[in-house]
Amino acid sequence: MNKANAEFERVKPMVAARQGWHCLLCGTNTHGDAWPGHSTHHRQLRRHCDPTYRHSPANLVRLCGVDNSTGCHGWVHTHVPEAERFGYIVPSGMDPRLVPVMDWRGDWWWLSEDGTARRLSQIEVIRMGINRKESE
Ligand SMILES: [Zn+2]
Repeated sequence: MNKANAEFERVKPMVAARQGWHCLLCGTNTHGDAWPGHSTHHRQLRRHCDPTYRHSPANLVRLCGVDNSTGCHGWVHTHVPEAERFGYIVPSGMDPRLVPVMDWRGDWWWLSEDGTARRLSQIEVIRMGINRKESE
């Protein structure tokens, strides 16, 4: 196993625990091996991502689906505009550490590099919406 893969394997359980083992998109409990399985998704796609945060917990979320064509992991890769809107895909050139992600309950989270997450306040969510409209 190369160093990058070792890092990915090390971070995966941290990411799952941060979300309480739920699929971040639909909320299914992905603890264990029950259908539809689970996988760890790179918000900024692995090949586009700056190596300094490629396998950072800030760039990773746990989703249901055993690969990137099944479950919510499959949905994300086939619905890119919607996935970008909710922070599941971070366009190349943007820093995933600065792009919050929405969970299955509708809460938005900043994902930190140390494996923790901080929920955005309502004010922050509103400001984010305003900024988004202004930039369109
Ligand atoms: Zn799911």
